Amino acid sequence: MRVIVGLVIHESNSFNPDFTSLDQFRLLVGAEVFNRPDYYQNSSLAGIIKVFSRYGVEIIPTVVALPTSQGGIVTKEAYLRIKGLLLEQIGGIDRSYDGICLALHGSMTVEGIGDGEGDLLRAIRTMVGDQITIACALDMHAMVTAKMLASANALVSYRTAPHVDKIETGARTAEILYDSLINKYQLYTAGVEIPFLVSGEKSESAKSPMRELFGEISKTDQKPGILASSYCLGFPWVDVEFNKCSALVVSSGDRTLAELEAKKLAVKFFEKRAEFNFTTSAYPFEEAIQIAQAEKEYPVFVIDSGDNPGAGGSQNIVNTLEYLYHAGIKDTLYCVIADQTAYQKCVEKGVNSEITLNLGRRIAGNTIIQEKLVQFTGQIKSLGSYRDLSAAVLDLNGLDLIISTRKIVLTEPEFILALGLDPRDYQIVVLKSGYLDPNFKPYARRVMLGISPGYTYQLLERLPYKNVRRPVYPLEEISVNDLKLIRWEENNE
Ligand SMILES: [Zn+2]
Repeated sequence: MRVIVGLVIHESNSFNPDFTSLDQFRLLVGAEVFNRPDYYQNSSLAGIIKVFSRYGVEIIPTVVALPTSQGGIVTKEAYLRIKGLLLEQIGGIDRSYDGICLALHGSMTVEGIGDGEGDLLRAIRTMVGDQITIACALDMHAMVTAKMLASANALVSYRTAPHVDKIETGARTAEILYDSLINKYQLYTAGVEIPFLVSGEKSESAKSPMRELFGEISKTDQKPGILASSYCLGFPWVDVEFNKCSALVVSSGDRTLAELEAKKLAVKFFEKRAEFNFTTSAYPFEEAIQIAQAEKEYPVFVIDSGDNPGAGGSQNIVNTLEYLYHAGIKDTLYCVIADQTAYQKCVEKGVNSEITLNLGRRIAGNTIIQEKLVQFTGQIKSLGSYRDLSAAVLDLNGLDLIISTRKIVLTEPEFILALGLDPRDYQIVVLKSGYLDPNFKPYARRVMLGISPGYTYQLLERLPYKNVRRPVYPLEEISVNDLKLIRWEENNE
């Protein structure tokens, strides 16, 4: 048996005006994929490769395209290059193959194209014909479209947020594909849309109501003829027509059964729509800081949730930093402003020097009011690096600010330690993030979600959506009749 594998992942934030270009992807092509497993060791592709290797399947690698960080929508140029490479690899395979197993995100939005995964899967299907089975592992935050469903045979998504089951999801997808090829049956995936927008900070898998809903997923999986079921939660910070949640069911070819079970899962989700609340206590940012100052046990982590680089925030919005600086808040660590130029200036001045920097971007709503004009004066405390990332620490009169050379989704406390700082020495740690990464939990005596401005603003009801199809909950009430099968029709084009 021979199976084609590949990975194309991006979660695109359409509110962030900074497009994602090709240089923001790590690219591997053809045989290179096997030379750098470290690039994708924690992705669903690692699980896919593990399963096929175990079964002795010949694996044909194509492309790995992983962003160095999530950001704005992908430029047409970058996407077409990645798509071109992938199709070129598939087109260049000289012997027959049996199936295709891909690791995708499901919320890659492309400039001038929109639905990235739909476009990619359709192009692959057109190239390989109807006889080849295509199975894809998706992120839990996928926006599943009719084009994706019409082009792939199986779509399977993560079941945990924070995502700790990426490898397992890849493995499950590969197992389903392998079994269908060995036992020669078709895979069919039904999807039912749930017009609902929700942020990850209200839908952690270990907390209610997602915990109970994933219980329903497990029960559905046990039913005869069902191979995998999923909830995909969409990605709220992208303003496209097809943004929504969905329920997916993969069956061993039984279309009616898959549709029936997907509908049931969508109804269960719909019934719990009013139960989605912040899974961490949430306050306006300034209020969270005031509460944190009064806490006896420290550090208190306050999440600067509006500028979360893990969900496409730009990590240079200084509204919250400005507030802390002008309010004279001390014993506080602020992580992180990404600014290569500011870092370079710190290096030129050297440790212990005083420096005045024009930093970041101040915004109102989602509009930039000032760029590189907000002034801060402080003393350079340290310069350091961790892995391939360099950073400077600036002491703004008791408020320590980390400036990094590029965006970083901070999941490793070791980054802070490497700069000679310890989160435990501060009363307050401000982190540009979404829900707190499990690695930081041992450090935090208390965690609060600070509601702050940025491209990942948490109060979705106030976001300027223009394109999302309405009605959509919680912007409007929806009814059970709004839960519709996601079906490809030629006029969908
Ligand atoms: Zn996700």
